Amino acid sequence: MMIAGIAAILFFTSLFALSSVLHAPLAPVVDGPDNPVVDPYHAYSFEAMMEDALLLQSRYPELIRTGRIGESVEGRPLLLLEFGLGERKIFLNGAAHAREYVSAAYLMYMLDRYADAYSTEGTWDGYDLKRILDQVTFCIVPMVNPDGVNLVQNGFAAVKDRDAVSLIATDPDDPTGYASWKANLRGVDLNRNYPVNWSAGKKVTVPSFSLFKGAAPLSEPETKAVANYLNTSMCWAFISFHSMGEGLYGWDDPRAVYYPQLHSMVSRIMKASGFVKLTDTADTSYGTFAEYVRDTFLKPALTIELCPYTDKTYSYPDEDFDRVWRPAKDICLIVAEEVIKMGDQPYRVYQNETFLHAFCNKAYALAYAKQWANSKVLYEGPPSSS
Ligand SMILES: [Zn+2]
Repeated sequence: MMIAGIAAILFFTSLFALSSVLHAPLAPVVDGPDNPVVDPYHAYSFEAMMEDALLLQSRYPELIRTGRIGESVEGRPLLLLEFGLGERKIFLNGAAHAREYVSAAYLMYMLDRYADAYSTEGTWDGYDLKRILDQVTFCIVPMVNPDGVNLVQNGFAAVKDRDAVSLIATDPDDPTGYASWKANLRGVDLNRNYPVNWSAGKKVTVPSFSLFKGAAPLSEPETKAVANYLNTSMCWAFISFHSMGEGLYGWDDPRAVYYPQLHSMVSRIMKASGFVKLTDTADTSYGTFAEYVRDTFLKPALTIELCPYTDKTYSYPDEDFDRVWRPAKDICLIVAEEVIKMGDQPYRVYQNETFLHAFCNKAYALAYAKQWANSKVLYEGPPSSS
């Protein structure tokens, strides 16, 4: 219900925003696999994403709902797409790092192709989409850092507060200045700003194009919006999409003893994609999204690097999107199938009367309840009936 209200607001505010980016009235939509909404073969922009989101919602109203979880530093909406009809939510996010906007293109193109397949054959690559989307809903924030993406794609002149941005350290190896930018427009790395392993982030101490954790955990509107959303929307798994390395982090999570599906998730993704296991170094693994959600919610969380390594640290070539899409096209359905197999989460946390989260482990439920002044664990212990 909340999302319907939010969707209405988004729809009307987006109409205003879109009036400046649309060069022509919306064309009538023709269904069919040869007519994708999303074009990922060009630098995928915030404006294109917003336009595509509304088109996808209007093409598949029974499947796709749009909303926003908050706003960026420059006031861009942080788009949320809910895709599916199932109770078990899976959180997917992309483009937390500006130059890695291909991850936003990947998520939007995936949504487009899966929705098309659902409404035509009902299957995708052998996966039973109807069965999966009856049990699972993907909650997708494709572009966590829209201001950064705008900076990378359109340059310094496209920034609102140039005085402030000009003070942020740029990449000394990047002659263009902003093509290798990862941070938000306050020079905070949005994948280092979460309240986890905070003391480890000592290397970069001032606002920078990359790796500055910020003055405090969740100091940025983008990370605060993600954390607030997750605090009141119980998700069963979390995947953060990045761009470099054709591999995944989080496979070695010691907490997976509580969710053994992580292991099958990882091995199936590796088999389907050819991706490899990647390992964080201790001096760069602070304040990351995936570690934060694992630590808070005790559920599977992976960081997936979609693209091959390139010799430059710039955005992956847009025209080479097929190379990105082909190996990764089934990943989210593998995650969904494994989430469907996950065990019950009997420890439920409420804030006053509002359900917040359920956990498979009492200590984690109590720790989470403690963060909320008035929350209490209403149900403790596994259900006696099963
Ligand atoms: Zn990244």
